[in-house]
Amino acid sequence: MSYYLDYSASTPLLSQVKQKLESILSVYGNPSSLHQEGLKAKEEILEAKNIISNKLKVLPDEIYFTSGATFSNNQAIQGFLQYHKLTYPHVVTSSIEHDDIYLILEEYPRDLKHYISCDKYGKLNINELEYILDRLKDEIVLLSIQWANNEMGVIQDMKTIASIVNQYPNAYLHTDATQFMPYFPIDLSSISIDMLSMSAQKIGGLKGTGLLFKKNSIHLTPLIYGDQGLIGGTENVPGIACLGEAFKCLDYSIVDDIKNKRNYFYNIIKDLGILVGSFDNRLPNNINMIFEGVNGEELQALLSGMDIYVSTGSACSSYSDEPSHTLTALGYNKKQSQSSIRFSLGKDITYNDLDYVAERIKFCLDILKNK
Ligand code: PMP
Repeated sequence: MSYYLDYSASTPLLSQVKQKLESILSVYGNPSSLHQEGLKAKEEILEAKNIISNKLKVLPDEIYFTSGATFSNNQAIQGFLQYHKLTYPHVVTSSIEHDDIYLILEEYPRDLKHYISCDKYGKLNINELEYILDRLKDEIVLLSIQWANNEMGVIQDMKTIASIVNQYPNAYLHTDATQFMPYFPIDLSSISIDMLSMSAQKIGGLKGTGLLFKKNSIHLTPLIYGDQGLIGGTENVPGIACLGEAFKCLDYSIVDDIKNKRNYFYNIIKDLGILVGSFDNRLPNNINMIFEGVNGEELQALLSGMDIYVSTGSACSSYSDEPSHTLTALGYNKKQSQSSIRFSLGKDITYNDLDYVAERIKFCLDILKNK
């Protein structure tokens, strides 16, 4: 018996996706080939595009399949900045983005990049955003703001952000919706977002697959040149077909149940540490706690030895020794940041499981604090 509380890192394959994968493995044609086997593969891609574009309420040809959200974020940002390079575009982002956004912009000239700060609950400073956009109104500006944070699950008010960006004709909005998408429906006909990234592995699809939505009016320079247009190379037909299937299965009716369980869990462990980020304004399955005086990696390893699987802060950066830039942006020091654990629940966990996990956390904290 194991207890998996790491859904923000990756989710188990959905059973419907497994079935789709089994059936798609017999589709071996290259989707660019014009014979029957090629057409079968092409149809799978078109079907996935249709399913996804219907859900997101966009055009099928505005969906581009990638190897995951990292690729999508890179393509969106690097592709935009490269395409507009002669006009020296500015980029506005936040201090709590996923690592990849941080790294993409590391080498970008200082005077062309702007980081919006957030309060101690993880909420972006909207006044700062308005101020920066106003100052840059004559420039080409790309904003990249994640919809929900991968470490502390805090959700940004994307409707307000989009409505502000829309007031500036030279400003364009990209959002990383990877963590938001599993829990909330996204209707891109009612909110004006120019580009959106997501990853299949967070919604029960295959790893190494994701997508970039891009309005047809947005121009990007490809990162990978090839025959297939913006994203060169033969498409990952199994991954794409499974992503379509995972979209079909997006089920928001389970969200209240997950949230109730998360709240129950938080109530049992809340006195053991400090909650990172706002409680109300966060993903329904996320709790991120700082257990002061304890090293998060040691706690994670002890729990793992008891078959309880959690992450230190963000699984994506848990191999780095540096404190999480997200926690630093919220005002936590290096020690506190290294004491943080992210719990991200899935639908199958039970209240009894959560009692057990909480009891084991207390047990491990006692060991680590008295060693
Ligand atoms: N953005 C966010 C917000 C994420 O949580 C992740 C995955 N941890 C990524 C991007 C990268 O996704 P992928 O691993 O599919 O490239």
